[in-house]
Amino acid sequence: MKINRISVFHRNLPLTHPYWLSGKQLRFDRLDATFVKLETEDGATGWGEGTPWGHSYVPAHGPGIRAGLETLATAILGQDPRQVGIVEQAMDQCLPGHLYAKAPVDMACWDIAGQSAGLSIADMLGGRHPNGTAVASSVSSGTVDDVIAEIERFRSMGYVSHSVKIGNGVAEDIACIRAVRSIRQAGEWFLFDVNRAWSRRQAVQVMTAIAEPDIAIEQPCESLDDIAAIRPLTTVPISVDESLVTLQDAARIARDGIAEIFGIKLNRVGGLSKAARIRDVALAHGIDCTIMATGGTVLADAEAAHLAQTIPARHRLSVWACQDMITVDPAPGRGPRNANGYLTVSDAPGLGFAPDEEHLGEPVAVYERVSTKGKVRR
Ligand code: MG
Repeated sequence: MKINRISVFHRNLPLTHPYWLSGKQLRFDRLDATFVKLETEDGATGWGEGTPWGHSYVPAHGPGIRAGLETLATAILGQDPRQVGIVEQAMDQCLPGHLYAKAPVDMACWDIAGQSAGLSIADMLGGRHPNGTAVASSVSSGTVDDVIAEIERFRSMGYVSHSVKIGNGVAEDIACIRAVRSIRQAGEWFLFDVNRAWSRRQAVQVMTAIAEPDIAIEQPCESLDDIAAIRPLTTVPISVDESLVTLQDAARIARDGIAEIFGIKLNRVGGLSKAARIRDVALAHGIDCTIMATGGTVLADAEAAHLAQTIPARHRLSVWACQDMITVDPAPGRGPRNANGYLTVSDAPGLGFAPDEEHLGEPVAVYERVSTKGKVRR
């Protein structure tokens, strides 16, 4: 089984509401999505999606995915997609770094590998636990009233897990955390996401003022060095996502006790293959996990939901469903959907569904293998 065609699709995904991060420093109105379709010489098809959260959030770039795929195509064509690790190594040798460009290819390979084996991606990654994963909202940074209104909107859709974006300054963030905690309902869990906006001093000030173990603070400062420095100064559980990129990052966080939660972002870390290793480091060290793409449609949510459901429930906090924040759905009625606050993957082989190409438009690039000796693109 050899990959003989790579089709690349581009779609902009308008957000249902404008979205702010890092204390209103960063605004987002739409996402730039890339969809990858791999086809093999014997008719197998797999799909991947790469949708960074804009280009100002972390070092990832929608057009950069498509440029990266142009470079990677020669390393991908002719590979057996079931040998996901071989494809991963070939991509890493061809183009070091640029993890976000490789993630959709890795996802599409897992889709084909699962279909070939008759197993879901979750079962291919170690096994699917029976219960779905709590869906986490992503609540835009704003005033206390804005934040509570947004939480109410997600509550109306069944969400019981919320990632509230803060980073507006010490006094504002303390007020926001206290206000949100005061309206917490039974069974709800809140993570407050700073998205790197605090200095070390600000982090210590806020986390001392709101010191309770019933919430978590995500990515309080810019770097792992910063977070390691404040970790001994607070009892509030800490999650790291934006600074969790490589397996070496994961090993350092676990070994040095920098965080109690891994926020594993599939597009950020380079796909399911690399994310599964980071998951294993977490589980080996008693670290809980939240799993998410960096954004995107039900395809990206499904990828995250598959990995999430391989994690034992006691270590699995949530999965983010971006599908409720965008106005485009390339697979209506298919894939994991929010049901009473949970995303659950089926036992259908591979990803379990495919998008409608009519929702993606014409491919913006097609790379083909024309013989066993030559590889060309058109
Ligand atoms: Mg985060």
